Amino acid sequence: MKNEEYLDIKQANYRNIYQLFFQHEHLSKPQIVKMLNLSLPTVVNNITELETEGKIKEQGFFQPQGGRPAIAYQLVDDAFITIGVEIQQTKVRCIALNLKGEVLNVDTNVLYFENEPPYIENLSQVIYLFLQKIAYPQERILGIGFSIQGIVSKDGQSMLYSRVLSSEHFDFKQLQLYFDIPTMLFHDVKCAALTELWFSEHIDNAVYVSISEHLGGAIIINNQIDLGKKGYSGALEHLQIHTDGNLCYCGQRGCLETYCSLSALLAPDETTEAFFASLRENDELSVMRWDAFLEHLAKGLNTVYLLLERDIILGGEIAFYLIEDDLQILQQRISELSTFPLDSDFIRIATQQKYPSAMGAALPFLVKYLA
Ligand SMILES: [Zn+2]
Repeated sequence: MKNEEYLDIKQANYRNIYQLFFQHEHLSKPQIVKMLNLSLPTVVNNITELETEGKIKEQGFFQPQGGRPAIAYQLVDDAFITIGVEIQQTKVRCIALNLKGEVLNVDTNVLYFENEPPYIENLSQVIYLFLQKIAYPQERILGIGFSIQGIVSKDGQSMLYSRVLSSEHFDFKQLQLYFDIPTMLFHDVKCAALTELWFSEHIDNAVYVSISEHLGGAIIINNQIDLGKKGYSGALEHLQIHTDGNLCYCGQRGCLETYCSLSALLAPDETTEAFFASLRENDELSVMRWDAFLEHLAKGLNTVYLLLERDIILGGEIAFYLIEDDLQILQQRISELSTFPLDSDFIRIATQQKYPSAMGAALPFLVKYLA
Protein backbone atom coordinates (compact mmCIF):
# COMPACT_ATOMS: atom_id res chain seq x y z
CA MET A 1 0.00 0.00 0.00
CA LYS A 2 1.30 3.44 -0.87
CA ASN A 3 1.96 5.81 1.96
CA GLU A 4 -0.69 8.26 0.69
CA GLU A 5 -3.38 5.61 0.63
CA TYR A 6 -2.46 4.55 4.13
CA LEU A 7 -2.80 8.15 5.33
CA ASP A 8 -6.19 8.49 3.57
CA ILE A 9 -7.51 5.39 5.30
CA LYS A 10 -6.08 6.52 8.62
CA GLN A 11 -7.83 9.89 8.24
CA ALA A 12 -11.08 8.28 7.17
CA ASN A 13 -11.06 5.99 10.20
CA TYR A 14 -10.43 8.90 12.53
CA ARG A 15 -13.22 10.90 10.88
CA ASN A 16 -15.72 8.01 10.91
CA ILE A 17 -15.08 7.26 14.57
CA TYR A 18 -15.41 10.94 15.50
CA GLN A 19 -18.64 11.28 13.50
CA LEU A 20 -20.13 8.25 15.25
CA PHE A 21 -20.09 10.26 18.49
CA PHE A 22 -22.41 12.84 16.91
CA GLN A 23 -24.98 10.10 16.32
CA HIS A 24 -24.70 8.18 19.61
CA GLU A 25 -24.85 9.46 23.18
CA HIS A 26 -22.34 6.90 24.53
CA LEU A 27 -20.01 4.46 22.82
CA SER A 28 -17.53 1.83 23.96
CA LYS A 29 -14.48 0.62 22.02
CA PRO A 30 -16.02 -2.84 21.33
CA GLN A 31 -19.18 -1.16 20.03
CA ILE A 32 -17.16 0.97 17.59
CA VAL A 33 -15.21 -2.10 16.45
CA LYS A 34 -18.52 -3.76 15.58
CA MET A 35 -20.23 -0.70 14.06
CA LEU A 36 -17.38 0.27 11.75
CA ASN A 37 -15.91 -3.16 11.23
CA LEU A 38 -12.46 -2.02 12.33
CA SER A 39 -9.73 -3.76 14.32
CA LEU A 40 -9.54 -3.14 18.06
CA PRO A 41 -6.02 -1.58 17.89
CA THR A 42 -7.23 0.93 15.25
CA VAL A 43 -10.16 1.92 17.45
CA VAL A 44 -7.98 2.12 20.56
CA ASN A 45 -5.47 4.40 18.80
CA ASN A 46 -8.13 6.73 17.48
CA ILE A 47 -9.98 6.90 20.78
CA THR A 48 -6.71 7.83 22.51
CA GLU A 49 -6.09 10.53 19.90
CA LEU A 50 -9.61 11.96 20.15
CA GLU A 51 -9.46 11.93 23.93
CA THR A 52 -6.05 13.64 23.99
CA GLU A 53 -7.39 16.33 21.67
CA GLY A 54 -10.30 16.91 24.04
CA LYS A 55 -12.93 15.92 21.46
CA ILE A 56 -14.33 12.99 23.46
CA LYS A 57 -14.22 12.03 27.14
CA GLU A 58 -14.81 9.03 29.39
CA GLN A 59 -18.30 8.94 30.81
CA GLY A 60 -18.96 5.92 33.07
CA PHE A 61 -19.16 2.27 32.07
CA PHE A 62 -21.30 -0.07 30.02
CA GLN A 63 -22.31 -3.17 32.00
CA PRO A 64 -22.79 -5.93 29.47
CA GLN A 65 -24.45 -9.08 30.81
CA GLY A 66 -21.78 -11.50 31.87
CA GLY A 67 -18.98 -9.56 30.20
CA ARG A 68 -16.36 -7.17 31.41
CA PRO A 69 -17.56 -3.59 31.88
CA ALA A 70 -16.42 -1.37 29.03
CA ILE A 71 -15.56 2.32 29.35
CA ALA A 72 -18.22 4.54 27.82
CA TYR A 73 -17.03 7.54 25.82
CA GLN A 74 -19.00 10.64 24.99
CA LEU A 75 -18.64 13.59 22.63
CA VAL A 76 -17.28 16.80 24.17
CA ASP A 77 -19.94 18.87 22.50
CA ASP A 78 -18.24 22.16 23.24
CA ALA A 79 -14.73 21.09 22.22
CA PHE A 80 -15.25 23.78 19.62
CA ILE A 81 -17.89 26.45 19.50
CA THR A 82 -19.11 28.95 16.93
CA ILE A 83 -20.37 32.51 17.36
CA GLY A 84 -23.19 34.32 15.60
CA VAL A 85 -23.67 38.09 15.78
CA GLU A 86 -26.94 39.51 14.52
CA ILE A 87 -26.68 43.18 13.62
CA GLN A 88 -29.99 45.03 13.67
CA GLN A 89 -30.76 48.70 13.37
CA THR A 90 -31.07 49.26 17.10
CA LYS A 91 -29.51 46.20 18.70
CA VAL A 92 -26.88 43.49 18.48
CA ARG A 93 -27.45 39.88 19.45
CA CYS A 94 -24.54 37.53 20.18
CA ILE A 95 -25.03 33.78 20.34
CA ALA A 96 -22.67 30.86 21.01
CA LEU A 97 -23.44 27.38 19.67
CA ASN A 98 -21.79 24.07 20.51
CA LEU A 99 -20.88 21.38 17.97
CA LYS A 100 -24.46 20.10 17.97
CA GLY A 101 -25.80 23.55 17.10
CA GLU A 102 -27.27 23.96 20.59
CA VAL A 103 -27.36 27.42 22.16
CA LEU A 104 -24.73 27.79 24.90
CA ASN A 105 -25.30 31.44 25.54
CA VAL A 106 -27.13 34.41 24.06
CA ASP A 107 -27.00 38.12 24.79
CA THR A 108 -28.81 41.11 23.30
CA ASN A 109 -27.45 44.65 23.57
CA VAL A 110 -28.82 47.99 22.49
CA LEU A 111 -26.52 49.48 19.85
CA TYR A 112 -27.69 51.86 17.11
CA PHE A 113 -26.28 51.00 13.69
CA GLU A 114 -24.27 53.68 11.96
CA ASN A 115 -21.54 53.38 9.40
CA GLU A 116 -18.92 55.28 11.37
CA PRO A 117 -15.73 54.05 13.03
CA PRO A 118 -17.16 54.43 16.57
CA TYR A 119 -19.90 51.95 15.69
CA ILE A 120 -17.41 49.33 14.52
CA GLU A 121 -15.43 49.88 17.70
CA ASN A 122 -18.51 49.66 19.92
CA LEU A 123 -19.67 46.55 18.09
CA SER A 124 -16.30 44.85 18.57
CA GLN A 125 -16.49 45.81 22.25
CA VAL A 126 -19.91 44.16 22.63
CA ILE A 127 -18.50 40.98 21.06
CA TYR A 128 -15.36 41.06 23.22
CA LEU A 129 -17.49 41.29 26.36
CA PHE A 130 -19.61 38.38 25.18
CA LEU A 131 -16.51 36.27 24.44
CA GLN A 132 -15.13 37.18 27.83
CA LYS A 133 -18.38 36.11 29.49
CA ILE A 134 -18.53 32.72 27.81
CA ALA A 135 -14.78 32.30 28.48
CA TYR A 136 -13.71 29.87 25.75
CA PRO A 137 -10.09 30.09 24.59
CA GLN A 138 -9.71 31.54 21.12
CA GLU A 139 -8.41 28.29 19.62
CA ARG A 140 -11.70 26.61 20.47
CA ILE A 141 -13.78 29.16 18.52
CA LEU A 142 -14.34 28.09 14.93
CA GLY A 143 -15.45 31.50 13.73
CA ILE A 144 -17.70 34.50 14.11
CA GLY A 145 -20.50 34.96 11.60
CA PHE A 146 -22.30 38.28 11.25
CA SER A 147 -25.91 38.47 10.15
CA ILE A 148 -26.82 41.79 8.61
CA GLN A 149 -30.02 43.26 7.13
CA GLY A 150 -28.50 43.57 3.71
CA ILE A 151 -27.46 41.53 0.72
CA VAL A 152 -23.94 40.23 1.04
CA SER A 153 -21.33 39.20 -1.54
CA LYS A 154 -21.04 35.46 -2.11
CA ASP A 155 -17.63 35.30 -0.44
CA GLY A 156 -19.11 36.73 2.78
CA GLN A 157 -16.64 39.61 2.88
CA SER A 158 -18.70 42.68 1.97
CA MET A 159 -22.23 44.07 1.86
CA LEU A 160 -23.67 44.61 -1.62
CA TYR A 161 -26.96 46.32 -0.86
CA SER A 162 -28.83 47.62 2.15
CA ARG A 163 -31.29 50.43 2.28
CA VAL A 164 -32.61 49.05 5.53
CA LEU A 165 -29.53 49.82 7.57
CA SER A 166 -28.63 53.46 7.24
CA SER A 167 -25.57 52.84 5.11
CA GLU A 168 -24.94 50.97 1.90
CA HIS A 169 -21.31 50.25 2.65
CA PHE A 170 -20.76 48.57 5.95
CA ASP A 171 -16.99 48.51 6.52
CA PHE A 172 -16.59 44.83 7.30
CA LYS A 173 -12.83 44.91 6.61
CA GLN A 174 -12.43 47.39 9.44
CA LEU A 175 -14.41 45.16 11.80
CA GLN A 176 -12.36 42.09 10.87
CA LEU A 177 -9.20 43.82 12.09
CA TYR A 178 -10.46 43.44 15.66
CA PHE A 179 -10.48 39.63 15.54
CA ASP A 180 -7.94 36.85 15.08
CA ILE A 181 -10.75 34.35 14.47
CA PRO A 182 -12.22 33.69 11.00
CA THR A 183 -15.13 36.06 10.33
CA MET A 184 -17.83 36.06 7.67
CA LEU A 185 -20.75 38.30 6.78
CA PHE A 186 -24.18 36.92 5.84
CA HIS A 187 -27.60 38.20 4.74
CA ASP A 188 -29.95 37.83 7.74
CA VAL A 189 -32.72 36.15 5.74
CA LYS A 190 -30.35 33.56 4.32
CA CYS A 191 -29.10 32.97 7.88
CA ALA A 192 -32.66 32.29 9.06
CA ALA A 193 -33.21 29.92 6.12
CA LEU A 194 -30.00 28.07 6.99
CA THR A 195 -31.18 27.62 10.57
CA GLU A 196 -34.44 26.15 9.30
CA LEU A 197 -32.43 23.84 7.06
CA TRP A 198 -30.26 22.73 9.98
CA PHE A 199 -33.20 21.79 12.19
CA SER A 200 -35.53 20.30 9.57
CA GLU A 201 -34.08 17.15 8.13
CA HIS A 202 -35.95 16.96 4.86
CA ILE A 203 -36.44 20.32 3.21
CA ASP A 204 -34.74 19.53 -0.07
CA ASN A 205 -36.23 22.42 -2.05
CA ALA A 206 -38.24 25.36 -0.71
CA VAL A 207 -38.65 29.10 -0.61
CA TYR A 208 -38.08 30.64 2.80
CA VAL A 209 -40.05 33.85 3.29
CA SER A 210 -39.00 35.93 6.26
CA ILE A 211 -41.58 38.39 7.54
CA SER A 212 -40.13 40.60 10.25
CA GLU A 213 -39.80 44.38 10.40
CA HIS A 214 -38.83 43.92 6.76
CA LEU A 215 -39.61 41.24 4.22
CA GLY A 216 -37.02 38.95 2.66
CA GLY A 217 -36.62 35.65 0.89
CA ALA A 218 -34.15 32.83 0.38
CA ILE A 219 -34.33 29.94 -2.05
CA ILE A 220 -33.31 26.49 -0.88
CA ILE A 221 -32.19 24.16 -3.65
CA ASN A 222 -30.96 20.64 -2.94
CA ASN A 223 -30.61 21.42 0.77
CA GLN A 224 -28.41 24.44 0.09
CA ILE A 225 -29.14 28.15 0.27
CA ASP A 226 -29.01 29.44 -3.28
CA LEU A 227 -26.92 32.60 -3.56
CA GLY A 228 -27.51 33.34 -7.24
CA LYS A 229 -24.78 34.88 -9.37
CA LYS A 230 -23.71 37.63 -7.00
CA GLY A 231 -25.83 37.10 -3.90
CA TYR A 232 -29.14 38.76 -4.82
CA SER A 233 -31.11 35.51 -5.21
CA GLY A 234 -34.47 35.30 -3.43
CA ALA A 235 -35.13 39.05 -3.04
CA LEU A 236 -38.90 38.67 -3.32
CA GLU A 237 -39.39 41.80 -1.17
CA HIS A 238 -38.98 43.92 -4.30
CA LEU A 239 -41.52 42.05 -6.41
CA GLN A 240 -43.72 44.80 -7.73
CA ILE A 241 -47.35 43.86 -7.08
CA HIS A 242 -48.89 47.29 -7.85
CA THR A 243 -47.42 49.58 -10.51
CA ASP A 244 -48.51 52.72 -8.70
CA GLY A 245 -48.41 51.49 -5.12
CA ASN A 246 -46.67 52.50 -1.91
CA LEU A 247 -43.14 53.86 -2.13
CA CYS A 248 -40.51 51.29 -1.17
CA TYR A 249 -37.12 52.04 0.42
CA CYS A 250 -35.55 50.76 -2.83
CA GLY A 251 -37.06 53.72 -4.72
CA GLN A 252 -39.62 51.67 -6.65
CA ARG A 253 -43.37 51.77 -6.04
CA GLY A 254 -45.62 48.88 -5.07
CA CYS A 255 -43.00 46.38 -3.84
CA LEU A 256 -44.25 43.45 -1.76
CA GLU A 257 -42.17 44.89 1.11
CA THR A 258 -44.53 47.85 1.38
CA TYR A 259 -47.56 45.56 1.96
CA CYS A 260 -46.25 42.40 3.58
CA SER A 261 -43.66 43.40 6.17
CA LEU A 262 -44.36 44.09 9.82
CA SER A 263 -43.49 47.74 9.28
CA ALA A 264 -46.28 47.84 6.69
CA LEU A 265 -48.73 45.90 8.84
CA LEU A 266 -48.29 47.57 12.21
CA ALA A 267 -49.21 51.09 13.31
CA PRO A 268 -46.20 53.17 14.46
CA ASP A 269 -46.38 52.23 18.16
CA GLU A 270 -48.10 48.90 17.81
CA THR A 271 -46.30 45.66 18.73
CA THR A 272 -46.67 42.42 16.79
CA GLU A 273 -48.01 40.81 19.94
CA ALA A 274 -50.69 43.47 20.43
CA PHE A 275 -51.80 43.27 16.81
CA PHE A 276 -52.21 39.50 16.84
CA ALA A 277 -53.95 39.57 20.23
CA SER A 278 -56.63 41.88 18.85
CA LEU A 279 -56.79 39.93 15.58
CA ARG A 280 -57.45 36.66 17.40
CA GLU A 281 -60.18 38.40 19.42
CA ASN A 282 -61.79 39.28 16.09
CA ASP A 283 -61.34 43.01 16.39
CA GLU A 284 -62.98 44.27 13.21
CA LEU A 285 -60.25 46.67 12.13
CA SER A 286 -57.46 44.17 12.81
CA VAL A 287 -59.32 41.52 10.82
CA MET A 288 -59.59 43.92 7.88
CA ARG A 289 -55.90 44.83 8.02
CA TRP A 290 -54.89 41.16 8.21
CA ASP A 291 -57.18 40.31 5.35
CA ALA A 292 -55.52 42.94 3.16
CA PHE A 293 -52.09 41.71 4.26
CA LEU A 294 -52.92 38.11 3.28
CA GLU A 295 -54.39 39.25 -0.01
CA HIS A 296 -51.18 41.03 -0.96
CA LEU A 297 -49.05 38.19 0.32
CA ALA A 298 -51.07 35.73 -1.79
CA LYS A 299 -50.40 37.89 -4.83
CA GLY A 300 -46.66 37.89 -4.20
CA LEU A 301 -46.45 34.22 -3.29
CA ASN A 302 -48.47 33.24 -6.35
CA THR A 303 -45.70 34.68 -8.50
CA VAL A 304 -43.06 32.92 -6.42
CA TYR A 305 -44.92 29.62 -6.66
CA LEU A 306 -45.52 30.05 -10.36
CA LEU A 307 -41.81 30.52 -10.97
CA LEU A 308 -40.38 27.92 -8.63
CA GLU A 309 -43.19 25.52 -7.67
CA ARG A 310 -41.58 24.83 -4.33
CA ASP A 311 -43.00 24.59 -0.83
CA ILE A 312 -43.07 27.91 0.97
CA ILE A 313 -41.86 28.29 4.55
CA LEU A 314 -43.08 31.37 6.41
CA GLY A 315 -40.47 32.51 8.91
CA GLY A 316 -39.24 35.66 10.58
CA GLU A 317 -40.81 37.31 13.60
CA ILE A 318 -44.33 36.67 12.31
CA ALA A 319 -43.93 32.87 12.38
CA PHE A 320 -44.58 32.68 16.11
CA TYR A 321 -48.02 34.31 15.68
CA LEU A 322 -49.28 32.43 12.63
CA ILE A 323 -51.95 29.75 12.92
CA GLU A 324 -53.15 27.01 10.61
CA ASP A 325 -56.18 29.09 9.55
CA ASP A 326 -53.89 31.79 8.15
CA LEU A 327 -52.14 29.20 5.98
CA GLN A 328 -55.45 27.83 4.74
CA ILE A 329 -56.68 31.30 3.75
CA LEU A 330 -53.38 32.04 2.04
CA GLN A 331 -53.37 28.76 0.13
CA GLN A 332 -56.97 29.27 -0.88
CA ARG A 333 -56.22 32.74 -2.23
CA ILE A 334 -53.14 31.56 -4.10
CA SER A 335 -55.18 28.73 -5.60
CA GLU A 336 -57.70 31.28 -6.88
CA LEU A 337 -54.92 33.32 -8.50
CA SER A 338 -52.92 30.41 -9.81
CA THR A 339 -52.81 29.48 -13.46
CA PHE A 340 -52.44 25.79 -12.58
CA PRO A 341 -54.49 23.65 -10.21
CA LEU A 342 -52.94 23.45 -6.73
CA ASP A 343 -54.25 20.62 -4.65
CA SER A 344 -52.01 19.96 -1.69
CA ASP A 345 -50.67 21.98 1.25
CA PHE A 346 -47.59 23.85 0.15
CA ILE A 347 -47.14 26.51 2.82
CA ARG A 348 -45.89 25.86 6.33
CA ILE A 349 -44.66 27.85 9.32
CA ALA A 350 -40.92 27.83 10.14
CA THR A 351 -40.08 25.48 12.99
CA GLN A 352 -37.13 27.49 14.28
CA GLN A 353 -38.59 30.70 15.65
CA LYS A 354 -36.04 31.74 18.26
CA TYR A 355 -32.93 33.68 17.11
CA PRO A 356 -32.95 32.13 13.61
CA SER A 357 -30.70 34.82 12.08
CA ALA A 358 -28.13 34.86 14.89
CA MET A 359 -27.95 31.06 14.83
CA GLY A 360 -27.75 30.96 11.06
CA ALA A 361 -24.75 33.32 11.15
CA ALA A 362 -22.90 30.90 13.44
CA LEU A 363 -23.85 27.70 11.61
CA PRO A 364 -21.68 27.95 8.44
CA PHE A 365 -18.51 27.41 10.52
CA LEU A 366 -20.10 24.36 12.08
CA VAL A 367 -21.24 23.00 8.72
CA LYS A 368 -17.67 23.39 7.47
CA TYR A 369 -16.18 21.73 10.56
CA LEU A 370 -18.50 18.73 10.26
CA ALA A 371 -18.11 18.33 6.51
ZN1 LIG B 1 -38.58 47.72 -3.24
